[in-house]
Amino acid sequence: MFPFYGLTYDVASVFAHEFGHVAGLNHTGAGVAVMFYQLDSGTIKTVLTSDDLQGYNNIAWNN
Ligand SMILES: [Zn+2]
Repeated sequence: MFPFYGLTYDVASVFAHEFGHVAGLNHTGAGVAVMFYQLDSGTIKTVLTSDDLQGYNNIAWNN
């Protein structure tokens, strides 16, 4: 966790999310997903959800 304006964020969760962008994923509306647009302070999201995997599948099949 690292502090940011008084809140703390999990570094691995941020990295997992940003890696998704590098891989070509956009944000999802699924709140539990790594690629949800917002990471709540103190939340850890390092495990891909079915929604995230669907996004990676879409990339794989569209290239
Ligand atoms: Zn993002």
